[in-house]
Parts: sequence; C-alpha cells; structure tokens
Amino acid sequence: MQTTAIQYLKGIGPKRAKSFEARGVKTIEDLLYYFPRRYEDRTNFASISALKEGQIYTIKAQVLAGGQRNSWRRRSFSITEAALEDGTGKISCVWFNQPYLKEYLKVGASLILYGKVERYDGRLQMNNPEFEVIDSQDEDSLNIGRIVPVYILPQGFSQRSMRSLIKNTLDGYLPKINDPLTYDLRTRNNLLNLAQSLLNIHFPQDLDLQKQAHRRLSFEEFFIFQLPLVLRKLSRKEKKGIQHSVEGKLVDDFISGLPFKLTGAQEKVLAEIKKDMASPQAMQRLLQGDVGSGKTVVATLACLAAIQGGYQAAFMAPTEILVRQHYEKISAQLAGLTFAGRKLRVGLLVGQDKEKENIYRDLKAGRIDLIIGTHALLQEELSFKNLGFIVIDEQHKFGVGQRALLPKKGNNPDVLIMTATPIPRTLAITLYGDLDISVINELPAGRLPIKTLLFSQQSSKKAYAIAKEELNYRRQAYIIYPVIEESYALDIAGAKKMFAELKAGEFKDFRLGLIHGQLKTKTQEAAMLKFKNRELDLLVSTSILEVGIDIPNATCMIIAFAERFGLSQLHQLRGRIGRGNLQSFCVLISDGQTQEAKARLEAMLASTDGFRISEEDLKIRGPGEFFGSRQHGLAELKIANPLTQMHLLKAAREEAIALIKQDVRLEDRAHQLLKEKLLQRFPEYESMMLVG
Ligand code: ADP
Ligand code: MG
Repeated sequence: MQTTAIQYLKGIGPKRAKSFEARGVKTIEDLLYYFPRRYEDRTNFASISALKEGQIYTIKAQVLAGGQRNSWRRRSFSITEAALEDGTGKISCVWFNQPYLKEYLKVGASLILYGKVERYDGRLQMNNPEFEVIDSQDEDSLNIGRIVPVYILPQGFSQRSMRSLIKNTLDGYLPKINDPLTYDLRTRNNLLNLAQSLLNIHFPQDLDLQKQAHRRLSFEEFFIFQLPLVLRKLSRKEKKGIQHSVEGKLVDDFISGLPFKLTGAQEKVLAEIKKDMASPQAMQRLLQGDVGSGKTVVATLACLAAIQGGYQAAFMAPTEILVRQHYEKISAQLAGLTFAGRKLRVGLLVGQDKEKENIYRDLKAGRIDLIIGTHALLQEELSFKNLGFIVIDEQHKFGVGQRALLPKKGNNPDVLIMTATPIPRTLAITLYGDLDISVINELPAGRLPIKTLLFSQQSSKKAYAIAKEELNYRRQAYIIYPVIEESYALDIAGAKKMFAELKAGEFKDFRLGLIHGQLKTKTQEAAMLKFKNRELDLLVSTSILEVGIDIPNATCMIIAFAERFGLSQLHQLRGRIGRGNLQSFCVLISDGQTQEAKARLEAMLASTDGFRISEEDLKIRGPGEFFGSRQHGLAELKIANPLTQMHLLKAAREEAIALIKQDVRLEDRAHQLLKEKLLQRFPEYESMMLVG
C-alpha cells in the first residue's frame, strides 16, 4: 500500500503538501484516490458558429483582444473581457471581479473555455467561464485531445499542474499497486481491477471505462464501510443476550388502558421488537418514524415487557424538557398499573438533580423499574441492579460513543434506538448497517394534515391574523425565529426583540412567553410549563423548540425568516403542531431568494410526509451535508452514493457478510491487503475482530 507521504513526490515541498493536507490528502494513496470533480471531453470542441444560447460548451479559441474596466455603476466592481475566435466565429467572454485573470488573456493566446452561453445585447457571450491557457499542441497531450479531469484545486495548483502531478504519480505507482479486492470477488461482481480503475477515473480512455472505474471504486468504498458494520452485527448475534418473556399481564393491561387503538404500523413494529426481545440474541434495533407517529407508546410497551420479567428499563432522551415530558406522560399512563402486587416505580434523572444520590441508590438496589433521563444516565457512578432494556430517543442528538455507553451498564441488554428523521432504506443501511431496522410509516387515524402556507415578509400581518384567529378560539400558537438577537448583517430580526415588539403591538391582547438558549434551563422550563398549562397563548421561540414537544392545543406555528432553516429542521418544527385532532396551520414567512431556499420552502408546501421531506432534503443538500459531521461515515464516502447506487451497495454488503462468515479475522493471505486498508480507515477494527 502506498502510505508514503506525498511530500516525497517530485515537485511537492512542505508548502504544497500542506495545501493538500487541507483537502485530506496525506499519502500517495490519498492522492491516487483524489478523484476529479468532473470531466471535459476535449476530443472534440464545439465550433463557435454552432453555439446555442442556454447550453454549456467546451470551446477552443484564440484571444483577439483582452481588456479590463470598472463597472460604471459600481466603481469597485471590475469587469475583465476578452474577444475570442476559433476560425468559425467570434464570441466575447466576461469575468466579474477577477482582475488577476487579465494577465492570462494575452492576444494570440490559445484557450480552452468551459461555460454556459448566454445572450447579452443581442450577442452570444460566456459569463465567468472556466478556462485554461494551452501551450503548443504536442506538449499538451494531457490537456487536450482527450477526456480531461477537472479537480477541486488545492491552493497553489492549477488544473494543468494537478493533472501532471496525478499522471506522474499514476505512472510511477500503478505498476506496483496490488488490489485489495480478490480476483474472485471482482469476477463475481464484474469489477475492473484497481490499476485500470484508478487510471480511468483520472484519465478515462472513454466514458464507458470511466463509468466502469467509477463503479468499481464505489463498490470498494461501500465494501470497506460495510465490513465493520457487518462484523459488529454478526458478532452481536453470537453473544448471548437476555431472553425476555414478552407476553404478560402488564403489557396487556397497558394496552387496554390506552385511550386509543394502536395503528397497524405500531402493531407491526411492536411484534418485531417483541420477537427480538424473546430471542436469546441481544437486540439493537433502529425505529424510524415521523414526528407524531407514536414511537413513544411503542417504546413504553417494550420497556414494560422487560419489566414484567423482573428487569429494569432505561429511557434516554436528549434534552431536559423532553425527558420531563416523557416522564410526566409515561408516569400518568402507568399510574393505574400494578405488577407483582405493587405499583410500578418510575424515576426521573436530569443533570443537576438534588435527588441524584437517592436515584443512584434506588437504581442499584433495583427499587426503580423504569428510569427516564438525559445523558445524566451515562454517569460513571450510576449502576443498575439488572438493566434489561434500553430506549434511546432522538438518537441523532447523541454521538455514536454515547450511544454505546448505556448498554455497558447491563449484561447485553436489548436496545431500541429511535429517530424522527426517517431516511431512505439504502442510506439507513449505509449508516446503521449494524442495526436491524423498523419503520412506523403511518400516523394515528383522525389526524388532520397540517395546512402549510407561505407569505412574504411584507404580508406578515396576514400570518399574524391566522395566529390570532386560532388564539381567539382559545387555542395556542408558536412563533419561531432563527436567531436570538437581531442581525443587521443578515437583515433578520431576533426572538428577543420580536417578543417585546409583538407583546406591545400586534399581540397586546394575549399572553406571550419567550424561550431561547440564552435563558437558564429553569426559566425555559417555566415558560414551557406555563404554555402547557394554557397560562400563555403565544410562545416566541428559537429552534430550541425543535425536539419532541407535545402540546395538542397548539394549532398554529409561524416560522419567520423560514429560509434560514434547513428542510428537515422545518419539518421537525412543524411536527410540534397538528398533534391532536384539531386543524393546524404552519405559516412560513420568507423572502427566500436562493434556488435552494425556494426548493426547501416548496417541499414544505408540497408534503407533510417525513420520508418524502427527508428524501427531498437529501436531494437538495446531498448526503454529506444532510448528516453533517455527526455521522462521519457518510461525509467520508468520496465517490459512492447510496441514493443512486442502491444495487451496488447491496452487492457490496452481501460480499462483506460472506467474507466475514468465511474469515472473521481476515487471516487468509488473500485478504491481507484488504485488512491493511481497512485498519487504515478504521483502526478500531482490530479490537472488534478480537471480540468477534
Ligand atoms: P413520536 O414520539 O413518534 O413523535 P408520540 O409517541 O409522542 O410520537 O405520539 C404523538 C401523540 O400521539 C401522543 O400524544 C400519543 O399519545 C398519541 N398517539 C400515539 N399512538 C396513537 C394512536 N395509535 N392513536 C392515537 N393517538 C396516538
Ligand atoms: Mg418522540
């Protein structure tokens, strides 16, 4: 494997090595895996005479004249211009605010340009095209007469210098490179070998080979990412877990006490969970379900199934507000139930509790059946008598490491992980391939779909009117702002100031409350509680309200400056209303200008289905952005895309399962290269193999 630092390559000193490092490239192997952003087919250039408005072209032309001026409207704004011709016609090109380009536009210079053709003053023109200056034809076989790669450039590089660096490195190392995928595996899956793939991903002979190279390298990426997940899953299934006796009076009593009937989806998921719990293998199941789909009831039922067999259960949620809400609701639901001749004992644990010591003692002695808490549950001093079941709510708010801590407090307890940001199945496999997955894809009956409306900034009064109408019916409303303090730079108002303004003006006849992250948790909770008890009509808030709040009498939410929120976040916020059987209204106020902002708002208007919304969000932002740095797995996928390469992902996963079943520790000589590569990416794999 080529683990030598790139600094030792010809033409790369410490400085250029640094700028590569900023792009995650440290070794020669990293460099070979630094894939082009796009390609340009320079086997044929478009003739200028044949260009059509609105299309993107690559052309080759000579500079007739070049110049630069400042805009007559804005002095500081520079315009660089060039007139070009290619023997069939002439075209002008314009670059805005890049005065340094002028020196490349010498009369007679040969350029290759890439960009969109537009019409200006009746004539065709390219605005801000990307371009390269071409040397003499024969010296330049890397940059013309072929399909050329275009890279995201590390600082200090041009496309041309990047191309020669990569080409030289390929020439030097490909003859020595070994393939971590065995010949058999490649044949089975119809994959190119590594050397061919690297060559053709950078300098494709033709577009078909580029595609094949792309397929092979994507497969490799999926495969290497699946191996640790599959290993974790298979080795978990080997370990002995708890065999819960899931049928019993406690569960039955709870169900018959509910004021509603479980939905079909809830029943189905509950059956899946019970089956896992009853089996001798430890469960790790991900439960996906849109906001309001009724995950909490299912989770509570599963806890009861464990408790009725004499085990303790723990329910962890990410914020204090949410934990208290779960505690109140679940305590009330369990109040009338008895078990083994006594009442159920439910405990609450949040950060700075004075009761903490007592709770620790009771947990250890087994005097608490169900503990509901924040990450305070992860404290080292805290231990259980016999923890048998764990629920982790809103799992994406916890790190992977945190998620793994709680199960260590029991003896292979069963774990149910819940998320209200449902994602398409292939993505779930990519991220959570070590878990089993359940989905609640149905809302409780009788819910009226939330009506979502969009108003411009100028018509905010209309939005306020909708809220007031709801308040006049003795219902409640939220108004959400993206920031606490107003921002002049962004030209947006903040929650603090708007609270004062609305209270004195538009909503002076109503009782208003305010919550945001600068307020103490106690103050926030007091306001939440008042709102819940209907002592407040209107709650002004930041996105702190996002997670899990359940107040059925709140029927209206205004989201101001809605363009400042992500799509999934908007959907989560909207999920705070429409929770009872009253008609609810979500009113977005926005002058959103960018394409992306418009796409997000349109998606909100078009659908209330969390799966559809998250798919849309993924399309708009791409998986890397969608998950951010929290789920580094996806951001690290450089070439593979689970959304578009579903079949390839499945094939790679199946190969990963087959391999681990056959050679868990990758001891076979044929697997040595793969093992090295895997350990480079996932050093923790070593210890996982020992456990497995
Ligand atoms: P989630 O956690 O999935 O966002 P919750 O479990 O908080 O959803 O449920 C939202 C609301 O719907 C709660 O008030 C809950 O009591 C209620 N609910 C749950 N299941 C049903 C059902 N089958 N029929 C009617 N209402 C239900
Ligand atoms: Mg919930």
